[in-house]
Amino acid sequence: MTRASLTIDLDALAANWRALARLSGGAEAGAVVKADAYGLGAARVAARLAQEGAHSFFVAEAQEGAALRPAVGPLADIYVFSGHMAGDADAIAAAALIPLVNSAEQANRHLAALPGHPFGLQLDTGMNRLGMEADDWQALAPDLLARAPRLLMSHLACADEPAHPMNARQLAEFRRMTDGAGPRRSLAATGGILLGADYHFDLTRPGIGSYGGQPFGAARPVVRLALPVIQVRAVAAGETVGYGNSWTAARPSRIATIAAGYADGLLRAMTGRGQLFAGDRPCPLAGRVSMDLMGVDVTDLPEVPDTLDILCPAQGVDRLAEAAGTIGYEILTSLGARYVRHYSGDGA
Ligand SMILES: *Cc1c(COP(=O)(O)O)cnc(C)c1O
Repeated sequence: MTRASLTIDLDALAANWRALARLSGGAEAGAVVKADAYGLGAARVAARLAQEGAHSFFVAEAQEGAALRPAVGPLADIYVFSGHMAGDADAIAAAALIPLVNSAEQANRHLAALPGHPFGLQLDTGMNRLGMEADDWQALAPDLLARAPRLLMSHLACADEPAHPMNARQLAEFRRMTDGAGPRRSLAATGGILLGADYHFDLTRPGIGSYGGQPFGAARPVVRLALPVIQVRAVAAGETVGYGNSWTAARPSRIATIAAGYADGLLRAMTGRGQLFAGDRPCPLAGRVSMDLMGVDVTDLPEVPDTLDILCPAQGVDRLAEAAGTIGYEILTSLGARYVRHYSGDGA
């Protein structure tokens, strides 16, 4: 059987990253490749971005960083957002990772386990997710700054809403906590880059924009996902399709059964709203998305191709996300291990 094929356009990825690097102005653009580069394959993605000039990579946890090291070579910086967790010292040392220490507890752990090993510091400026609070920071800053951290960073909660007052509040708090401190600073992810130069500091951390998602509206699509048609059947007006009889044919219809479902990361929540494409012709879902299968109404196609696209130029990750009531980030990271990933472009 033809298999579902997930194609990642490395040239489009590189173009998106370069555009975000230009928009970062005088700041260095890093690359966020956590969660296997948002599901697209961290080794291939990072290797291509390293070729484009990326030098600073960000992952969520030490194991991801250790896996990434061979792809980016010995000289690249690999920062770890979760910091220095218990049990991480060996991986941090072996792969020369830079933990972004989040708390006094982590600072003690790091300095005890790996004295002299590089680290950065993550500060909370209001998101209340990760990082030292202002009080802790004030108490610890003299000692920690004397140890020359490689980076002071924080993260914006509302950067995808440019007019949100939280952005300016967090910027002011970040300045208050870090002005004059000395180390390089980083505040902006994709959304923050688009907020302008005040938010850029020394190093930016684009993720989703490089992968073709909002809030980087000018992004080129990076992912194509084509799904095989298993069979096509005629359905009379009044017949139903799929679990729960939730779809009833309003006219004599042709229904294609597609070999992918929610076990492949195609969320059940897109039932009733999602569509697949034959080129630029939309074909609505018919009936519930099930575990490995879904029905698609292909009545209006002159002929049914071997595959239908669910991610393609006509429907990017954000449009599909809207149909599923979620965000592009979740669409990408849900694309499961069942797909064979193909790479196109330089570095494929
Ligand atoms: C995920 C993440 C990023 C990247 O965010 P995008 O919105 O994908 O650009 C940057 N910084 C931190 C701390 C993150 O968790």
